[in-house]
Amino acid sequence: MSDSANTHSGAGLAVPRRILGFERDAAGEWIVHLDCGHRRHVRHRPPLSDYPWLGDAAARAARVGAEIECGRCGRGELPDGAAVYRATDVFDEATLPAGLRRDHTIRAGSWGRVEVLAGRLRFVMAALAVDRELAEGEHAIIPPEVPHHVAPLGPVRMRVVFLRAPAPDIPPGS
Ligand SMILES: [Zn+2]
Repeated sequence: MSDSANTHSGAGLAVPRRILGFERDAAGEWIVHLDCGHRRHVRHRPPLSDYPWLGDAAARAARVGAEIECGRCGRGELPDGAAVYRATDVFDEATLPAGLRRDHTIRAGSWGRVEVLAGRLRFVMAALAVDRELAEGEHAIIPPEVPHHVAPLGPVRMRVVFLRAPAPDIPPGS
């Protein structure tokens, strides 16, 4: 299965994320760095995209820490350059911890990838309209701070690996 088939349905759902900083791309358009590890363009194109303050440095600085919607989180896309830093043990249908079978979250800035090594697993992330079966060799991406849980569908071997995006390289004074 390809990576694109492993992203979510793209149902137009988005996740509120905190702004870490701003930079301009080569064409002069503004990009925000978000605490999920994603970057997105913001453009003042009212009424659909209303950011009249973008050109003002003090107003941008005042928005650091404020929330803005991230569609890439909604689609379950890993941030560019995300790297694995930890993995759980491999669990089966008997050893799968209770905490993973009920809704729980991964902390801000960290991503998860639930990997099915054998058997079948149900993966549910209701806030993003995800409820799918993962077969052997398949995985699902878990964005930070989004409640999710798993359930064995018969015999299964699975684990979760945790990934982090590289720290954003935000130009000073932007
Ligand atoms: Zn995001």
